[in-house]
Amino acid sequence: MIFSIQPHEREIFRLISQTAAELGYPAYVVGGYVRDRLLARPSKDMDIVCVGNGIHLAQELATRLHPMPRVAVYQRFGTAMLRWNDIEIEFVGARRESYRHDSRKPTVVDGTLEDDQNRRDFTINALAVSLNAQDFGTIIDPFNGLQHLKEKIIKTPLEPGRTFSDDPLRMMRAIRFATQLDFAIAPETLQAIAEYRDRIRIVSMERVTIELNKIIESRQPSTGFKLLFNTGLLQLIFPEMAALHGVEKRQGKAHKDNFYHTLQVLDNLCRTTSNLWLRWSAILHDIAKPATKRFEPEHGWTFHGHEVLGAAMVPRIFARLKLPLDHKMKYVQKLVLLHLRPISLTKENITDSAIRRLLVDAGDDLEDLMLLCQADITSKNPQKVQRYLENYEMVKERLAEVEAKDHLRNWQPPITGEIIMEAFGLQPSREVGIIKTAVREAILDGKVENNLEAAYAYMLEQGKALGLAPVNEPGNNP
Ligand code: ATP
Ligand code: MG
Repeated sequence: MIFSIQPHEREIFRLISQTAAELGYPAYVVGGYVRDRLLARPSKDMDIVCVGNGIHLAQELATRLHPMPRVAVYQRFGTAMLRWNDIEIEFVGARRESYRHDSRKPTVVDGTLEDDQNRRDFTINALAVSLNAQDFGTIIDPFNGLQHLKEKIIKTPLEPGRTFSDDPLRMMRAIRFATQLDFAIAPETLQAIAEYRDRIRIVSMERVTIELNKIIESRQPSTGFKLLFNTGLLQLIFPEMAALHGVEKRQGKAHKDNFYHTLQVLDNLCRTTSNLWLRWSAILHDIAKPATKRFEPEHGWTFHGHEVLGAAMVPRIFARLKLPLDHKMKYVQKLVLLHLRPISLTKENITDSAIRRLLVDAGDDLEDLMLLCQADITSKNPQKVQRYLENYEMVKERLAEVEAKDHLRNWQPPITGEIIMEAFGLQPSREVGIIKTAVREAILDGKVENNLEAAYAYMLEQGKALGLAPVNEPGNNP
């Protein structure tokens, strides 16, 4: 079969072809670029394999491009990269690889195109397009990759056990491609993942997490998580999530399976946001349910405090998964902690003060929190879903109303610790905290107006009630 070359590729393919011919290197486009083009997916990075020296090819090609691009050379890997019209093109010599048991870093020797295709992870990733004069544009497909693209199948070119044992990251990649492309994993390939799952331990957590995040960024991440769970990989890489799986029944009462519930919340949320960290908050929103689960004979199953414990678990989980420990983690933590609050506001007779508290606590992340809560509705009863959604619309209206009136987004109380210390001549102490909280609560409760003068007067009252005397004469307010 011939690869249909698009106008924007023609020039660069010709140039690579001529340059490689002059150097005497047969050259090919290989791997993900070919796959994605055949699937009509956007493809940015292009890999060129030549039977020869990839670094020479890149350097020679660069001299023929205008303007001449910078060539990044990775001597240790025998690769070179240059950027041309927004495409990153990587050059490498064809190679054969052999693996040792304790490392996913192979020993590499020069090889043929066939050797190079043999070392690739999946049949659909092993397609090559010839850039050589005699068969320019021909697709070289030793493992039926074209057929598998059509049938939407992920399958290893060689014996799958060997493929995964050699480089266990490929197990994560298989599941990631199945999720991204909505492909099935061939039965013997899937079986081998389950069999060799323990090998994942030799892969660095950073690498595993890159694949995990690609699964989470897919249109329907549940596909990947179910595969991870069913092969036993999830239990190894992310045991807290695997622990959500399962149902317990007592006195005829069963709780829902929190693993499948979480996946449904995640899929729901993915329809409304592409924000990776918001998606992570869906994954983690009920993470403490196994740890907080109790059976109370009068009430049935309860998970009291799972939002608080869940938020406390976030830093440990992020650290182990090598996810960032900066503001992104804080954001996920906050959403996990607050995920029940909007539900509590759907009850009747909600005071303005409860609404104000949520505005203050959620700040700029309020819209994201509402998206998470809406995704958290997973009832199978359409009438219930409808009613819950309507309740949330009401909550949103109330939030908007109170916000318009009180401007409490990202609100800071007008009375700071410094003001209190100065007013009463105090060092940092328990009293400062008590007064500060009292002022904040009084404003949020609507007992004291949200301005400095009213808050200052209230602060003086509170201090006096604690037996403190103001340093300045009364009436000497700022
Ligand atoms: P994406 O760019 O979406 O991550 P990709 O398939 O292009 O997908 P890359 O990591 O860019 O993945 O790798 C390019 C090609 O290199 C792959 O298509 C595959 O042929 C080969 N490859 C990458 N990683 C491995 C691996 N761990 N084992 C075997 N072959 C691999
Ligand atoms: Mg790629």
